[in-house]
Amino acid sequence: MINVSQIKKGIVIDHAEAGHGFHIYKALHLDALSDPVVLLTNIPSKKMGVKDMIKIETDFELNMDVLGLIDPYVTVNFVRDGQVVAKQSLTLPREVTGIMQCKNPRCITNYEKVDAVHFYLVDEEKKIYRCEYCDAYTRFKPE
Ligand SMILES: [Zn+2]
Repeated sequence: MINVSQIKKGIVIDHAEAGHGFHIYKALHLDALSDPVVLLTNIPSKKMGVKDMIKIETDFELNMDVLGLIDPYVTVNFVRDGQVVAKQSLTLPREVTGIMQCKNPRCITNYEKVDAVHFYLVDEEKKIYRCEYCDAYTRFKPE
Protein backbone atom coordinates (compact mmCIF):
# COMPACT_ATOMS: atom_id res chain seq x y z
CA MET A 1 0.00 0.00 0.00
CA ILE A 2 1.08 3.51 -0.69
CA ASN A 3 0.90 5.67 2.37
CA VAL A 4 0.35 9.30 1.57
CA SER A 5 -0.89 11.57 4.31
CA GLN A 6 -4.36 13.03 3.96
CA ILE A 7 -4.39 16.67 3.12
CA LYS A 8 -6.05 19.09 5.54
CA LYS A 9 -7.36 21.54 2.98
CA GLY A 10 -7.06 21.90 -0.73
CA ILE A 11 -7.85 19.88 -3.81
CA VAL A 12 -7.46 16.23 -4.78
CA ILE A 13 -7.68 15.43 -8.48
CA ASP A 14 -8.59 11.74 -8.56
CA HIS A 15 -9.24 9.07 -11.21
CA ALA A 16 -6.91 10.60 -13.77
CA GLU A 17 -5.90 8.15 -16.44
CA ALA A 18 -2.40 6.79 -15.84
CA GLY A 19 -0.01 9.09 -17.69
CA HIS A 20 -2.29 12.13 -17.49
CA GLY A 21 -1.07 13.24 -14.07
CA PHE A 22 2.12 14.84 -15.32
CA HIS A 23 0.28 16.58 -18.20
CA ILE A 24 -2.20 18.00 -15.70
CA TYR A 25 0.61 19.04 -13.38
CA LYS A 26 2.32 20.97 -16.18
CA ALA A 27 -0.80 22.43 -17.77
CA LEU A 28 -2.07 23.79 -14.44
CA HIS A 29 1.41 25.16 -13.65
CA LEU A 30 1.45 23.41 -10.30
CA ASP A 31 5.24 23.78 -10.23
CA ALA A 32 4.66 27.50 -9.64
CA LEU A 33 2.89 26.87 -6.30
CA SER A 34 4.82 27.21 -3.09
CA ASP A 35 2.40 24.93 -1.20
CA PRO A 36 2.79 21.14 -1.07
CA VAL A 37 1.75 19.31 -4.24
CA VAL A 38 1.86 15.53 -4.53
CA LEU A 39 1.74 13.82 -7.91
CA LEU A 40 1.00 10.11 -7.65
CA THR A 41 1.26 7.92 -10.71
CA ASN A 42 0.25 4.36 -11.49
CA ILE A 43 -1.71 3.84 -8.29
CA PRO A 44 -3.66 0.57 -8.24
CA SER A 45 -7.37 1.24 -8.77
CA LYS A 46 -10.26 -1.25 -8.70
CA LYS A 47 -12.18 0.71 -11.31
CA MET A 48 -9.35 1.72 -13.61
CA GLY A 49 -6.53 -0.78 -13.11
CA VAL A 50 -4.08 2.02 -12.49
CA LYS A 51 -4.66 5.72 -12.12
CA ASP A 52 -2.90 9.00 -11.42
CA MET A 53 -3.80 11.40 -8.64
CA ILE A 54 -2.72 14.90 -7.63
CA LYS A 55 -3.05 16.41 -4.19
CA ILE A 56 -2.74 20.16 -3.86
CA GLU A 57 -2.53 21.38 -0.28
CA THR A 58 -3.91 24.85 -0.86
CA ASP A 59 -6.91 26.76 -2.11
CA PHE A 60 -6.26 27.03 -5.77
CA GLU A 61 -8.33 28.37 -8.65
CA LEU A 62 -8.40 25.31 -10.90
CA ASN A 63 -8.82 25.90 -14.60
CA MET A 64 -11.61 23.35 -15.20
CA ASP A 65 -11.41 23.82 -18.98
CA VAL A 66 -7.75 22.86 -19.05
CA LEU A 67 -8.39 19.95 -16.72
CA GLY A 68 -11.46 18.79 -18.67
CA LEU A 69 -9.54 18.96 -21.94
CA ILE A 70 -6.73 16.76 -20.69
CA ASP A 71 -8.91 14.31 -18.79
CA PRO A 72 -12.70 14.73 -18.72
CA TYR A 73 -13.05 11.67 -16.48
CA VAL A 74 -11.24 12.99 -13.41
CA THR A 75 -13.02 13.68 -10.13
CA VAL A 76 -12.10 16.86 -8.29
CA ASN A 77 -12.43 16.65 -4.50
CA PHE A 78 -12.39 19.80 -2.41
CA VAL A 79 -11.04 19.22 1.09
CA ARG A 80 -11.63 21.29 4.24
CA ASP A 81 -10.41 20.27 7.70
CA GLY A 82 -9.34 16.89 6.36
CA GLN A 83 -12.81 16.09 4.95
CA VAL A 84 -14.04 16.03 1.37
CA VAL A 85 -16.67 18.78 1.34
CA ALA A 86 -17.46 18.80 -2.38
CA LYS A 87 -16.88 16.63 -5.42
CA GLN A 88 -17.00 17.74 -9.01
CA SER A 89 -16.88 15.60 -12.11
CA LEU A 90 -15.77 17.12 -15.35
CA THR A 91 -16.76 16.97 -18.97
CA LEU A 92 -14.95 17.85 -22.13
CA PRO A 93 -15.58 21.59 -22.58
CA ARG A 94 -17.88 22.50 -25.53
CA GLU A 95 -15.88 25.68 -26.04
CA VAL A 96 -12.42 26.76 -24.91
CA THR A 97 -10.82 30.17 -24.98
CA GLY A 98 -7.14 31.00 -24.84
CA ILE A 99 -6.01 27.42 -24.26
CA MET A 100 -5.46 25.90 -27.70
CA GLN A 101 -3.46 26.96 -30.73
CA CYS A 102 -4.72 26.60 -34.28
CA LYS A 103 -3.05 23.90 -36.40
CA ASN A 104 -3.60 25.80 -39.63
CA PRO A 105 -0.27 27.52 -40.44
CA ARG A 106 -2.07 30.16 -42.52
CA CYS A 107 -4.52 31.02 -39.74
CA ILE A 108 -4.25 34.66 -38.70
CA THR A 109 -3.81 33.58 -35.08
CA ASN A 110 -0.45 32.04 -35.97
CA TYR A 111 1.20 35.10 -37.46
CA GLU A 112 -0.57 37.97 -35.71
CA LYS A 113 -0.92 38.40 -32.01
CA VAL A 114 -4.47 37.30 -31.27
CA ASP A 115 -5.45 36.96 -27.64
CA ALA A 116 -7.74 34.26 -26.32
CA VAL A 117 -8.62 32.37 -29.50
CA HIS A 118 -11.97 30.63 -29.22
CA PHE A 119 -12.43 26.97 -30.24
CA TYR A 120 -15.65 24.95 -30.55
CA LEU A 121 -15.88 21.21 -29.95
CA VAL A 122 -16.71 19.21 -33.08
CA ASP A 123 -15.67 15.65 -32.15
CA GLU A 124 -15.90 14.65 -28.53
CA GLU A 125 -14.23 11.26 -28.88
CA LYS A 126 -11.17 12.58 -30.72
CA LYS A 127 -11.08 15.94 -28.88
CA ILE A 128 -11.24 17.89 -32.12
CA TYR A 129 -12.05 21.60 -32.00
CA ARG A 130 -12.83 24.20 -34.67
CA CYS A 131 -11.01 27.52 -34.76
CA GLU A 132 -13.28 30.59 -34.65
CA TYR A 133 -11.08 32.46 -37.15
CA CYS A 134 -10.40 29.98 -39.94
CA ASP A 135 -12.75 27.05 -39.16
CA ALA A 136 -9.82 24.62 -39.36
CA TYR A 137 -9.97 21.60 -37.08
CA THR A 138 -7.37 21.12 -34.36
CA ARG A 139 -7.05 18.03 -32.21
CA PHE A 140 -6.23 18.81 -28.58
CA LYS A 141 -3.02 17.27 -27.32
CA PRO A 142 -1.48 18.12 -23.96
CA GLU A 143 2.09 19.42 -24.01
ZN1 LIG B 1 -7.42 29.05 -37.11
